[in-house]
Amino acid sequence: MSTLRFKAVEQAMGRKAVSVAIPEERPEVYYGKQVFNRQKMFEYLPKQTFDALVDAIDNRKSLPREYADNVAQGMKQWALENGARHYTHWFQPLTDGTAEKHDSFIEHDGKGGVIEKFTGKMLVQQEPDASSFPSGGIRNTFEARGYSAWDISSPAFILGETLCIPTIFISYTGESLDYKTPLLRALNAVDKAGTRVARFFDPEVKHVNAYLGWEQEYFLVDEALYFARPDLALTGRTLMGHESAKNQQLEDHYFGAIPSRVEAFMLDLEIEAHKLGIPVKTRHNEVAPNQFELAPIFEEVNLANDHNLLIMSVMNEVGKRHNFRVLLHEKPFAGVNGSGKHNNWSLGTDKGVLLFSPGKTQKENLQFITFVAIVMAAVHKHNALIKASIASATNAHRLGANEAPPAIISIFTGDQLSHILDDIKNGKVNLELSDKEGMTVGVNQIPEIMIDSTDRNRTSPFAFVGNRFEFRAMGSSANCATAMLALNAAVADELNIFADKIQDRFEKGEDLNKAILTEVKELVESSEAIHFDGNGYSDEWKEEASKRGLDCETSVPLIYDAYLSDSSKEMFNRTGVLSDVELEARNEVKWEMYTKKIQIEARVLGDLAINHIIPVATRYQLTLLDNVRKMAEVFPKVDADNFSADDLVTIAKMADHMKVIKQEVAAMVDARRVANKIKDERKKALVYHDEVLPHMDTIRYRIDKLELMVDNEIWPLPKYRELLFIR
Ligand code: ADP
Ligand code: MG
Repeated sequence: MSTLRFKAVEQAMGRKAVSVAIPEERPEVYYGKQVFNRQKMFEYLPKQTFDALVDAIDNRKSLPREYADNVAQGMKQWALENGARHYTHWFQPLTDGTAEKHDSFIEHDGKGGVIEKFTGKMLVQQEPDASSFPSGGIRNTFEARGYSAWDISSPAFILGETLCIPTIFISYTGESLDYKTPLLRALNAVDKAGTRVARFFDPEVKHVNAYLGWEQEYFLVDEALYFARPDLALTGRTLMGHESAKNQQLEDHYFGAIPSRVEAFMLDLEIEAHKLGIPVKTRHNEVAPNQFELAPIFEEVNLANDHNLLIMSVMNEVGKRHNFRVLLHEKPFAGVNGSGKHNNWSLGTDKGVLLFSPGKTQKENLQFITFVAIVMAAVHKHNALIKASIASATNAHRLGANEAPPAIISIFTGDQLSHILDDIKNGKVNLELSDKEGMTVGVNQIPEIMIDSTDRNRTSPFAFVGNRFEFRAMGSSANCATAMLALNAAVADELNIFADKIQDRFEKGEDLNKAILTEVKELVESSEAIHFDGNGYSDEWKEEASKRGLDCETSVPLIYDAYLSDSSKEMFNRTGVLSDVELEARNEVKWEMYTKKIQIEARVLGDLAINHIIPVATRYQLTLLDNVRKMAEVFPKVDADNFSADDLVTIAKMADHMKVIKQEVAAMVDARRVANKIKDERKKALVYHDEVLPHMDTIRYRIDKLELMVDNEIWPLPKYRELLFIR
């Protein structure tokens, strides 16, 4: 019966590293080979078109329509020369991942044959069958159709034999149906608002860019084992499985030697990524067995996010070549660490100044502290929203679980920045004084070594790390745009509020630097509650955070309410990032997605419990019963208790576990039945959270107990010790 499990284990154990086709050239030669980057644009586009396109990209303008045909022409020529046969508009629907609809280049030539054609119109706009993507009712209320439109700021690339054009996806009435549209709006908002503030320090600044360096964590599992676990294959995580005797206790996986099969996979992935112009740089083992991490050099947020989405799908493909399945789920295995995706985020000017980086002069440091204080104020004001931006059914398993950041947003600053903030609060930072020699406080004293000396509080969801903030609460499977659009919008709003106040004071004749310092002090004081350098895992913090008025909600469907609070709506409206209609529609989708995820898991768990586990456990129980009976037959004179007491206890325990499993599965099905009748998506998600989810925990607990009792030979599913240790 369990032959599938043993075959899978045998297959996995016998596998050798797959050899990788290593290019003859060095990375600098093949880097970006599959990307229509500036160099290719220069080569394939007429000079005027090239200039217009570069100007549009650099200055966040739209490309005048008359150039689109030329761009399409050049892009097509390059794509065909590089083996492309299809093209697609590549977009980010409100589900997970990306979507694409492929069209081949061919058109009738009017003479019975075909020609390969690609026009400006095809490049600029496409109408995918939008009805199959969630819209939260927007398309019902407004227009049935949706279309995708070219995002010139992210270069087209060739994947396999398809030319992929990064696009936004919107309804005919202009509402966003994707993640990229509001992300671009948020980046625009932070550019404009950031520039206003940056100009107080350097009037020459033209743009403020936001940067993102993601760290993608993932697990690898041998594909034979993966397919022997229907829960993994269908939900991306194990819904049952007793902890392995050896786990991550010895901490021997982190920075340990990478197994050769995995190393081959990583090398292959790195080569693919570099061809696609994704600057991946760091790779290493993570804390849990079979867990790894991949990180690139940071890039502008929109591009970095496209690259993250792209790499997630490339990982899956490359994984298959190596007989692996890549698990991007936040919590594939209970009892070992889950996977996150730290978002290293910063702002910088077009003149190359990183705004969260302390400088050398008083002016630079006042600018540094201004931007830091504004971020703290934004995260404080919108802490519930920031949390909502990373909340999902899958990330819920990880957050607050003593391994990942707690489900409360706070900012860690480290000792040095803390001191500076304190000094500002206590009025110890004085602009005039700090110019003189010998003063120990003052904004010009911020030491440069701060970048390397920020200690690393791993329990903080949002940490200042010297020249950037590291937002660590993001889940491994998520689209970073969810967090990046909320964060950048919130910060943009706060930047504008700040700029207004300074302008006001300045117009009233106040000294600019004094006005800035006064307002910064105000910000530091009012956002004090968000600052926490202590242990985020402790129970005291939960109490303390609640006293400070920080959002402590843990139910994901309720966390989503933060998107619709007055302060969120007003902020999103002011910055033009999301309208009320969009916010409401997107929340419908979020609640619906939440429900669906739990629904699928509950179904799979019920099926496995009743059709896989119970029959096997019953069989083993029968064996024990048979044994007891036969012992009594053979040794009728000996008191049965003498030799079968243990068996009888086991039989009774198993009976109890099985009874509870059956009851709980029945109760879970009932709870689903009730929930499924609810029309309101929010209410439905709440019932799934409150009524369905708890049954899953009980069922799992009981199944895991049975796993320890039932004969290993007949247990049907690969066990944790088999899944988790790649040789
Ligand atoms: P760690 O694991 O120590 O946090 P990693 O080296 O794995 O660090 O990842 C750090 C990430 O932060 C990289 O993607 C890196 O490019 C990125 N990063 C560094 N500086 C900045 C910055 N100023 N803005 C955004 N991202 C940055
Ligand atoms: Mg990190």
